[in-house]
Amino acid sequence: MRHSGGCHCGSWNFETNHDPMFLYQCNCESCRKLNGSYSLGACYKEDEFVCSGPEVDYDYQGGSGELMKTRFCPTCHVRLTVRPQVLPELVFIPLGNFANPNQFQKIDLEIWTGTKLDIVHDQTRAGLSVSDSGTAERITKFLETLR
Ligand SMILES: [Zn+2]
Ligand SMILES: [Zn+2]
Repeated sequence: MRHSGGCHCGSWNFETNHDPMFLYQCNCESCRKLNGSYSLGACYKEDEFVCSGPEVDYDYQGGSGELMKTRFCPTCHVRLTVRPQVLPELVFIPLGNFANPNQFQKIDLEIWTGTKLDIVHDQTRAGLSVSDSGTAERITKFLETLR
C-alpha cells in the first residue's frame, strides 16, 4: 500500500494505493475546537481508500451551511475522517492519522485564513489561500486545475 495509518489507540486503520488529490490546511473555528488549533489533512475520493475499525459520527454545520460529516474513534476520540456534504465523494483524512506524514511536503490549499490563529504563520508554499471556507465553487475550480 502507498499510504496507511490509524488513530491513536490503533483500533481504527486505513490504507490506500493512491496519493492524495490535494493537501489542505484549514484554519476555521470548528477545526480549532476539534483539532486544538488548526487542521492539516489529505483529500481522497471515497473509493480510493479503505478503513476498518469502530467509528462514531459527529456532524456539524460547515461554512457553506452544509453538514461536515465527521467520524471519531470511540476509544481515543481522534478525528478519523471528514466528509463535507457540499463535496460529495470526497473524504478528508487528518495528516496526523498517516503513519508517515512527512512524506508530504506542500500544502495545496489553505482555507479560512480570515480566522487563522495569530500564532500560526502564513503558508507561503500553499498553492491557493482563501479567507473563508472556499468551498463548493472555489474548490471545484481548484480541483479542475489539478486535472
Ligand atoms: Zn482510537
Ligand atoms: Zn476547518
